[in-house]
Amino acid sequence: MRIAQIRERSMPISRYADATIASGGLTTSVAAVTTDVVRDGKPVTGYGFGSVGRFAQSGLMRERFIPRLLNAPDGGLANEAGMNLDPFRAWETMMTGEKPGGHGERCVAVGALDMAIWDAAAKIAGLPLYRYLARRLGREATIETRPKVRVYGAGGYVYPQDDIARLSDELRRFAELGFSHAKIKIGSMGLAQDQKRIEAAARQLPGGAAHLAVDAINAYDAETAPPAASMLAPFGLWWFEDICDPLDFETQAGVVANYPGPVAAGEALFSLAEARLLHLHGGLRCERDILEFDPVHCYGLPGFMPIVDYLTARGWPRASFWPHGGHLFCLHVVAALGLGGAEANPFSFQPLCGLVDGAEVTHGFTDLPQAPGIGFELRSKAYGVFRSLMTDA
Ligand code: MG
Repeated sequence: MRIAQIRERSMPISRYADATIASGGLTTSVAAVTTDVVRDGKPVTGYGFGSVGRFAQSGLMRERFIPRLLNAPDGGLANEAGMNLDPFRAWETMMTGEKPGGHGERCVAVGALDMAIWDAAAKIAGLPLYRYLARRLGREATIETRPKVRVYGAGGYVYPQDDIARLSDELRRFAELGFSHAKIKIGSMGLAQDQKRIEAAARQLPGGAAHLAVDAINAYDAETAPPAASMLAPFGLWWFEDICDPLDFETQAGVVANYPGPVAAGEALFSLAEARLLHLHGGLRCERDILEFDPVHCYGLPGFMPIVDYLTARGWPRASFWPHGGHLFCLHVVAALGLGGAEANPFSFQPLCGLVDGAEVTHGFTDLPQAPGIGFELRSKAYGVFRSLMTDA
């Protein structure tokens, strides 16, 4: 068996439901990996994308990672039985000749293709990804047949006009959809406006500020982080995320030492080596704080899972992991690995992020898609993107 074709395209993706609001020109890579395995009369194709927040990676994918997969010898990407793709062998093939360090965003290029390969492998196995992954990892006994996953509504980006009113409306809609917890952005408007945003958002959640997380998108430094933490502390927030530069462990550790509530970190660290540094020098408290490593941005699952293994072996509960991303892939990863919960982006980063069409969220929990693979086919607008990729000239 082999991969017969890989298609890839860069596409714009907006932080706002209203895509006419400027969103920094953000893009992502969508990918379709077609195998020579036939199901229902058609070759099986897996779909993936580069998660959100790091831009498309077309050059790296086209110059290095896609050719390595397509040029693999017949059977070189197959499992032992030769009947399915082995995503770990495919990953080793993609990483051939790549040196340690210098992660840049090549990890995103690999992660986008890795997502599509897992989708294809689970489809060939005829299983939803969470069940295929749990079986592959010998964790089947630890998961329920139809598990529910904790999710929170993420978004809350600053609106250029009518910020507080539109933010309030967005949070009200999260609550109406059944999300018990939510996350908004801070750090770009000054402390007084951030305080107003937090008060307005918390008013829309039945659980108030204790169910609200804030994400500073790495905005603070050694000077600005301590006053921000002092402003936030009395709110008793769910968590305080991405305080400063992801590698400024000195500033982060200083804040954590004086901040009583949970802190979230790890979203912009992409390797096991960086995760070790965060653990050793970030000042985090494994009984309280949150880890947000993005399974796609960490070179895909073969890069992400060693991070989970390393940290859980050093006292971090699996419940500490709340992967960044806000899409269906992370739902499966959370269920299969028994992690704390998943970000969900109901309105941001459309149409790729969010749950399947008609999905229900009840008290902050949702079901897993039961279609083979990730289930993008059950999210019609996302599936439309992948279908158009397949029919591109
Ligand atoms: Mg973040």
